[in-house]
Amino acid sequence: MTIKKEAPLRPVQSVTDLCHTCGSCSAICPLTGAKGFNPRKIVYMAIQERDQEIIDSPWPWICTMCGRCEHACPMGINIVNVIRTARGMVDRKNVPLMLQKGIELGLETGNNLGLPDEDFKFIIEDVASELADQPGFESFQVPFDKKGANLLHTLHNKLVNTQNEDLVHWWKIFHVAGEDWTIPSRNWEGVNWGYFSGDDEVMKVFVGRIVEHMEQFEIKNLMYPE
Ligand code: SF4
Ligand code: SF4
Repeated sequence: MTIKKEAPLRPVQSVTDLCHTCGSCSAICPLTGAKGFNPRKIVYMAIQERDQEIIDSPWPWICTMCGRCEHACPMGINIVNVIRTARGMVDRKNVPLMLQKGIELGLETGNNLGLPDEDFKFIIEDVASELADQPGFESFQVPFDKKGANLLHTLHNKLVNTQNEDLVHWWKIFHVAGEDWTIPSRNWEGVNWGYFSGDDEVMKVFVGRIVEHMEQFEIKNLMYPE
């Protein structure tokens, strides 16, 4: 199994589908040159099946997966998928610590911060009570685990950790619009770091939790934080 086979360079392969090393991807990539990083080089090495060199380098983790390179590529090559596939082939002990630690905490506790459910509820209710002190929001409450709500709101952990004010912006809109919404009281994380670490199995677990909420609470619409 190689990066090339795992992440087909294009949906339909042919000779003309291959990179012609024009460098448009490297020219537009904001990180070209960082520690020798260069998307053209990575694609070219993947075509040559020099996977181990890519996997052993810091390059898979330098890319932000922004996708600008793919837009610039005249051959439609799936550059982000090539890089993510390389990430998935890296031994998990060599995944950047913060990313891997967040994943492990997410698997264990339901969120990348490792916040116990009762602390999460305390923070959410505290922020909600501050909003309820504002004129026009006196009746505001956060509806946890509401069956049959129209919208499931999953959360980015930074909204719970350091950027509570961004939660309030959403809640104000919901309140004024009369939205019928809910948030899960457990497994509330909306950020799927399995995507960023290239780990499909982890990604499935996190997606599966959201699907479970949707089914359990019979909700049709999902609001995803990213
Ligand atoms: S996805 Fe990665 S390689 Fe492509 S432009 Fe963004 S940072 Fe560069
Ligand atoms: S833009 Fe596409 S064709 Fe050009 S070097 Fe990059 S991957 Fe190859």
